[in-house]
Amino acid sequence: MKDRLRHDLTALMGIPGLSGHEDRVRRAIATALDGLAPMRTDRMGNLIVTFQGDANAPSVMVFTHMDQLGFFVRKIDADGLIRVERMGGVAERAMAAQAVLLCVGEGRDVPGVILNKAHHATTPDEKYRVLKAPEIYIDTGHGSRAAVEAAGIRVGTPVVYRPQVIALADERIAGTSVDDRAGCAVVMELARLLARRETGVTVHLVFSVQEEFNLRGAQVAAQSLGPDMAIQIDLMLATDTPDMAERGEMALGGGPGISLYSFHGRGTLNGVIPHPAMVRLMEDAARAAGLPLQRSAQVGVLTDLSYVQLVGEGVASIDVGFPMRASHSALEICDLGDLAALVTLLDTALGRIDAGFDLSRDRA
Ligand SMILES: [Zn+2]
Repeated sequence: MKDRLRHDLTALMGIPGLSGHEDRVRRAIATALDGLAPMRTDRMGNLIVTFQGDANAPSVMVFTHMDQLGFFVRKIDADGLIRVERMGGVAERAMAAQAVLLCVGEGRDVPGVILNKAHHATTPDEKYRVLKAPEIYIDTGHGSRAAVEAAGIRVGTPVVYRPQVIALADERIAGTSVDDRAGCAVVMELARLLARRETGVTVHLVFSVQEEFNLRGAQVAAQSLGPDMAIQIDLMLATDTPDMAERGEMALGGGPGISLYSFHGRGTLNGVIPHPAMVRLMEDAARAAGLPLQRSAQVGVLTDLSYVQLVGEGVASIDVGFPMRASHSALEICDLGDLAALVTLLDTALGRIDAGFDLSRDRA
């Protein structure tokens, strides 16, 4: 399973897919899963793969996002330097001197670099000041606005960090868009397992859009599917480096995790406190499969589950994920063993849901 996860993850990390421009990622996933189960794409661009099951049992939506953060071109200067707006929670500390790809079309994408002012010319306070995304310049080498435009770059062109995958020691993978192509690879592997099952509940696998933009792409899928339960697959903040040590107990390589509390105060006033039956389900599944299960409670993080849980009469929800280091930086880090264990956890959990599964709040 780890070999397939490595293969899928590497392939998906190599494909640019800024929010709202996930089509190439979706095509790759749809091609890989072709024939496993009926699939469709909704008007937003969510890819929905449905494994029909027991109509008397609760239905489950398992979802993960295809998009990644980055930039949109805002202005092209007369000298050909390109100015951008940031799209999503870009870590601006990590932007300087990065390679980027301006996405004008498959096979035609234009490479560029984020200019870092000549070090020899920086003043003492410039040396320690982080530039904001609107202040940076991207150099594609074209030298004039006309040449940039002739290459297909216009206001609104998506820009991502140049895709790269670095195999680190000990089955760790570093690179661009581990968030959330690792989730996509996990759910693809889950699809292959579901295709082989003989009985079970209805499971909708959703590869969702625009999570990094406004967290609401998956909400549209939930509105049309009307699931009773939702399981969201994304990163969990690894806290086993010195800079993160005070924030929690989540270790990279320590196995999958569940979130018991997430909240994002800045503007959104949203987050998820999981349904108790979903917590029990994951704990029981981990025990049954002999897997470790880490726990997260964090302020400052938010996923699209925050909106999915509010659909219809309410959806019994939980965030489940893999530990990741350096979130939203150009190079993020995950562990293949964690991804494989996450697949097993999800498969085991789904197999434990039946018509008698109790989602009432009154259970003692
Ligand atoms: Zn994510």
